Amino acid sequence: MNQINLIFQSQTCFFKTGESKALSFRLQALNNLKLAIKKHENTILSAIRQDLNKSEFEGFLTEIGILYEEIDFVKKRLKQWMKPKRVKTAITHLGSKSVIYPEPYGVTLIIAPWNYPFQLAIAPLIGAIAAGNTAIIKPSELTPHTSAVLTQLIEETFDSDYIATIEGDAKTSQALLKQPFDYIFFTGSTPVGKIVMEQAAKHLTPVTLELGGKSPAIVHEDANLKLAAKRIAWGKFTNAGQTCVAPDYIYVHENIKVAFLQELQQAITDSYGEQPLDNPDFPKIVNDNHFNRLHQLLDNGNLIYGGKSDLEKCKIEPTILTDIDWETPVMKEEIFGPILPIMTYCQLPTVITALSGQPKPLALYLFTENKQIEQQVVDHIPFGGGCINDTMYHLATPHLPFGGVGHSGTGSYHGKASFDTFSHYKSILKQTTKFDLPLRYPGSEKRFKLIKKFFK
Ligand code: NAD
Repeated sequence: MNQINLIFQSQTCFFKTGESKALSFRLQALNNLKLAIKKHENTILSAIRQDLNKSEFEGFLTEIGILYEEIDFVKKRLKQWMKPKRVKTAITHLGSKSVIYPEPYGVTLIIAPWNYPFQLAIAPLIGAIAAGNTAIIKPSELTPHTSAVLTQLIEETFDSDYIATIEGDAKTSQALLKQPFDYIFFTGSTPVGKIVMEQAAKHLTPVTLELGGKSPAIVHEDANLKLAAKRIAWGKFTNAGQTCVAPDYIYVHENIKVAFLQELQQAITDSYGEQPLDNPDFPKIVNDNHFNRLHQLLDNGNLIYGGKSDLEKCKIEPTILTDIDWETPVMKEEIFGPILPIMTYCQLPTVITALSGQPKPLALYLFTENKQIEQQVVDHIPFGGGCINDTMYHLATPHLPFGGVGHSGTGSYHGKASFDTFSHYKSILKQTTKFDLPLRYPGSEKRFKLIKKFFK
C-alpha cells in the first residue's frame, strides 16, 4: 500500500471512531493549530520570504494574522453552529418535529496553490476541523520552503490519521484524486479546477472550487480618486499581483482618466519607491515560467509606468499599460502579476455589456460615490464578491462568505461559510406515534377529495 492509500485508509478508520466529531475535540484541535502557528511564526515567514520574497509585514498580514482571526472567530461560535436546528413543520405533517443536523462529511482533501501558500492551505483546514472532518492537505510544489514548514507543523501537531500533508506536484495531486474522498476543497486555476471536478465526479464527491479569473476595477467619474488609486495600487501590487482577487485590469471613466493615472502612479511610488526592483521587500514572481509569461505582456498597448524587470531576481516592476482593448493579449488571460492594463469608458452600460460577454469574475471593485451606479453594477454584473470603494478587503472579514461563481469557482468559505461548506446538513422528521392522520393512505374517496382541497 502506498503512502496515499495508507493515510487515506487510516483517516477513514479514525473518522469512523467518531472522535473528531466531539465539540471538545474540535476546539482542542483549533487551539493546537493556533499554538503551532504561533510557535512556528518566524519559520513560516522566512519560508514565505524564500519562496516569494514577501516582507515580514506582508507575510504576517496576509498569511498569518488572518488565520488567527479566523480561528478565534470560529472557536467563539462553534458550539452554536453545531446545535441541531429546529425548523417549522408543514400543517400536513401535524404531530411531527423537523430538525436539521450538521454532520461532518468524513475524510476531506484540501489542494492548495502557491500564491498564499500557507494561508490558503490552513484557512480551509480550519473549516474542515470545525465541522468535525479529517483532512489531507496537498500544498503547492512551487513554494517548497513553505510546503516543508507546513508539513513539519502539521506532523508535530496532529496524528496523521486525523490531519496529514502529502507533498508533491500535479501527479501526486492526481493520485490523491483517485481516492474516494468525502469532500474536496480545491484552490487554484480554472483549468485545473475542471480536472478536479471531473475526477471528483467519478466518486460523486462534492467539491468547493476556489478559482481565479480577470477581476475588474471600475473607477467612475465621481470617485474619490486619491483613495481609489491608493486602494487599487495596494490590491494590485500586494504579492506582486499574484493574488486571485487582485484587480486584473481597470475600467476608468474617460473624464477622469488623466487625473486618476497621475494618482495611481503616485500611489505606487509611495508604496514601493522610485526603483521597486531594488526594494528588498517587493515580492518576486514565483518562478521563471511565470516571469517569462508576464514578460511577454510588457509590450502590450502603451507602457506609461514601470516596465523594467530583473530575471535574476525574478522581479517585475509595477507596470501600467494604456491603449488596451479586449483583443490585446494581456486581456486574454488572468494576468496574475504586477501588470495593470487600463481601459476607458464613457457610459456605464458599455462596461456592463462588455463584462456580460466575459466569464464571471471572482471579484469586482467599483469606485463611486453614487448609490445608483452602485446598484446598477451590483444588479447587472455577476461576480463572486467584491467591494465598493476598496479592493480585496471583502475576503479579510469572517462575516462575509468568500468564493467565485461559474469559471471563478463554486461554493464559498470563511467564518460560518467554512463550517457550512464542510458540513452535510441532515434533515430529520420525527413523527409522533400518539396518533396517525389517515389523510395520506389510499382507499377512501372522501380523503382523496380532502387531499385535492389541500393541494390545489
Ligand atoms: P494550479 O491550478 O496550477 O495549482 C493548484 C494546485 O493544484 C497545486 O497544488 C498543484 O500541484 C495542483 N495541480 C496542478 N496541476 C494539476 C493537475 N493537472 N491535476 C491535479 N492537480 C493539479 O494553480 P496555482 O498556479 O497554484 O495558483 C494560481 C491560480 O489559483 C490562479 O488562477 C489564481 O487566481 C487561483 N487562486 C484562487 C484563489 C481563490 O481563493 N479563489 C486563491 C488563490 C489562487
